[in-house]
Amino acid sequence: MIKSKTMLTETESKEFLKKAGIPVVETRLARSKREAIAISREMGFPVVLKVNSPDVVHKSDSGGVRLGLANATQVGKAYAEMLSSIRQAYPGARIHGLSVQPMAPPGVEVIIGMSKDAQFGPVLMFGLGGVLVEVLKDVSFRIVPVTERDAGDMIREIKGYPILEGYRGRDPVSVPALEELIVKVSRFVDENPQIEELDLNPVFAYSDKAVAVDARIILEA
Ligand code: ADP
Ligand code: MG
Repeated sequence: MIKSKTMLTETESKEFLKKAGIPVVETRLARSKREAIAISREMGFPVVLKVNSPDVVHKSDSGGVRLGLANATQVGKAYAEMLSSIRQAYPGARIHGLSVQPMAPPGVEVIIGMSKDAQFGPVLMFGLGGVLVEVLKDVSFRIVPVTERDAGDMIREIKGYPILEGYRGRDPVSVPALEELIVKVSRFVDENPQIEELDLNPVFAYSDKAVAVDARIILEA
C-alpha cells in the first residue's frame, strides 16, 4: 500500500506545536499586502515574511523568505515581489498568503527532526543547523520515547557540542532548555501517530531558552 501524505504549512505546523506547549516564534498568516502591514505594525519591526503554501517545501528557494524588513514600505514591497517570484517558480502552487513573524534575535541554530523508521517507528534527530547538518551530517538519533537523559546524551554526543558550550566569548546555550524541547517533541509525536515527519529547522538556542523559527509537519492522510 502506498501511503499518501499531506504537508502542513509553516503556520499550521506552528499552531499545532504551540497547542502542545512547544515554543515557536509568534507567526500569523497575512492574505494581503494590507494585512501583512497591519500585522507587522502590531508585532513590531523588524519582521520576516515567508511564503505560505502546502506545495512549497523549501521556502527560501525562489525568494520565499525575506528577513529583517524594517518598516511598512519594505513589507509592502516585499509582499508583491515575493508573490510574483513564487508564482513564477511554482506555477499552480496553492498559496495561502505570506506568514509574518518578528525577526528573532540571533541564537545558535539547531535542528530537531522526526522521521519514521520501518523497524523502529518514530526516531528523533538532533543536530546543529545550517551547513553543519547538510554537509557534515553531524547529528544524533534516538528512538521515541526519548527521556530527558537520552535528550542530554543526544545533545552532548554531536561533534559540534563545543559550539553549544559557547566559544570565542559567546554565551553558552541552555542545554536544559534543549533537553526539555526534545522531550516535548518526543511526547508530541508519540501522542500524534498521524505525524509522519517533523522538522524544526532551525530552532534558535539561547542562554535561557530555545524557540523554533521554522516548522514543517507531514501527516499521513
Ligand atoms: P526554509 O523553508 O527555507 O527552511 P526558514 O523558515 O527556515 O525557511 O527560513 C530560512 C532561514 O531564515 C532560517 O534558517 C533562519 O536562519 C532564518 N529565519 C527564518 N525565520 C526567522 C525569524 N523569525 N527570525 C530570524 N531568522 C529567521
Ligand atoms: Mg527551515
